[in-house]
Amino acid sequence: MTIAAPEAIAQTIHQIRQTLPDSVLLMAVTKQVPVEAMRAAYAAGVRDFGESRLPEAIAKQSELQDLTDITWHLIGHLQRNKAAKALDHFQWIHSVDSLKLAQRLDQLAGDRPRRPRVCLQVKILPDPNKFGWTVPELLADLPQLDECRHLDIAGLMTIPPYGLDADTTQSVFIQTRELAEKIRQQTWQTIRMEHLSMGMSEDYPLAVQAGSTVIRLGRSLFGARPTA
Ligand SMILES: *Cc1c(COP(=O)(O)O)cnc(C)c1O
Repeated sequence: MTIAAPEAIAQTIHQIRQTLPDSVLLMAVTKQVPVEAMRAAYAAGVRDFGESRLPEAIAKQSELQDLTDITWHLIGHLQRNKAAKALDHFQWIHSVDSLKLAQRLDQLAGDRPRRPRVCLQVKILPDPNKFGWTVPELLADLPQLDECRHLDIAGLMTIPPYGLDADTTQSVFIQTRELAEKIRQQTWQTIRMEHLSMGMSEDYPLAVQAGSTVIRLGRSLFGARPTA
C-alpha cells in the first residue's frame, strides 16, 4: 500500500481545509490506513475518523487510546447482531440503512448515557451494490423512525453509484439535500435533518457545493488503498 508520508498528509489536509467552508466537517476515512498515518492526520488537526469495519476500528482505537478527543464514525454496513458493539465504539453511525437496524440501535441506546448520532443512508439512484433506502421506502418508514427516541437522527448519508459523470453526481447530491429539506418541513419528535454526509475523495467539491456538512475523505488524504 502506498501510504503518503506524514508531512504530505498534513499538507494535503491543510490545503483541503482552506477550500472548505467552516460548516463542513472533514472526516478522515482510515480503512486500511495504518495508525501512524492516522496520527499524522490527528497532528494536522483532524479529530473525526471514519472506519468501515468493526474489528479493524476496535483494534486501532485501542492503539490510539492516548488521543482522547477523537470522534469515531462508522461508515460501513452494520449487521444487526453487531449493533451493541457499534454503539460501544462509535459516536456516529452514518450507515443506518434499514428500519430494523434503526429499531435495534434504538432499543440498545435506551440503556446508554448518550444518544448515538445516526444518519439514514439513502439511494437517490438505483444501485444494487449499495445498502440503503430508496426515496419512497425512506418516506414510508419515517413515522416509525421518528419513534426511535433514543437515537439522534441527525441527517442523511448518500454514496452516488460508482462511475457517474460530474453532472449526474452533482444532481444526486442536490436531490439528497432537497430530500432533507422536504423531510425537515414536516414536524418530527426525533428526526432532525441538519447533516448531510456526502462527498468522498473523487467528488467532495460537488458535494460541498450542494450543501454537504460532512465529507468523508480517504484516498485524497492517505493515498491509494490496495484494491480488495
Ligand atoms: C471508503 C469510503 C469513503 C472514502 O473513500 P475515498 O474514495 O477513499 O475518499 C467514504 N465513504 C464511505 C462510505 C467509504 O466506504
